[in-house]
Amino acid sequence: MKKKLIFPLLLLVCIAPEVWADSFERDRNAMVRSQIRARGIRDHATLEAMRSVPRHLYVPAAQMRFAYHDRPLPIGYGQTISQPYIVAYMTEIIRPKPDHKVLEIGTGSGYQAAILAEIIDQVYTIEIIRPLGDQARRKLEAQYNNVHVKIADGYYGWEEHAPFDAIVVTAAAEYIPPPLVEQLKAGGRMIIPVGSPFQMQHLMLVEKKEDGEITTRSLMPVRFVPFDRAD
Ligand code: SAH
Repeated sequence: MKKKLIFPLLLLVCIAPEVWADSFERDRNAMVRSQIRARGIRDHATLEAMRSVPRHLYVPAAQMRFAYHDRPLPIGYGQTISQPYIVAYMTEIIRPKPDHKVLEIGTGSGYQAAILAEIIDQVYTIEIIRPLGDQARRKLEAQYNNVHVKIADGYYGWEEHAPFDAIVVTAAAEYIPPPLVEQLKAGGRMIIPVGSPFQMQHLMLVEKKEDGEITTRSLMPVRFVPFDRAD
């Protein structure tokens, strides 16, 4: 090979991964600007987490190039990773604080758990499909020491670690599971899609007041994969 060619070729090999990484970072910043900030998400910690977590590493390789698009994506086993805006919305609405303890039901890809782990000290997440849970656990444990993954039916919550300051449910239940309401701290917030797979689902905000009173509010129509039950 001509000497003249070797140097540019070497340079290309060295900088290619950098260029690749940078292009995802650009996509991520654009996603936060055009899909998330533009739609009204203002919580600083949520925006920062959405800018930091490499969403492309939480989707199957074949979906990587769509990772920052404005839509949910398939993650295998008939499940999906939510649209970025919905992840940000559900994060902001629970008013996450560093000293909180949060429970997520439906680990799936692990992406929502990673966003929560960027902000909150203790993240507990439950997945019902073992291979998905195991895969998410490997990714999350490589990156965070504040995320705990359990394979189980999330209907029952995670009693040993209750009560939680917040609960994020990422699969649509026909009704709000009573054990989850039970495990919510007084003053805590739960966000959960409610409705059957064949009907309109609504994202509901459940609040437990300091005196234990429960209030629920419907926030917006959504479409989530169904909440499964182990039986
Ligand atoms: N939060 C996920 C979204 C995954 S989709 C992410 O960021 O990728 C919802 C997930 O909920 C699916 O993986 C599904 O298997 C899981 N799920 C459904 N019913 C469940 C249940 N009863 N307990 C725990 N996980 C459940």
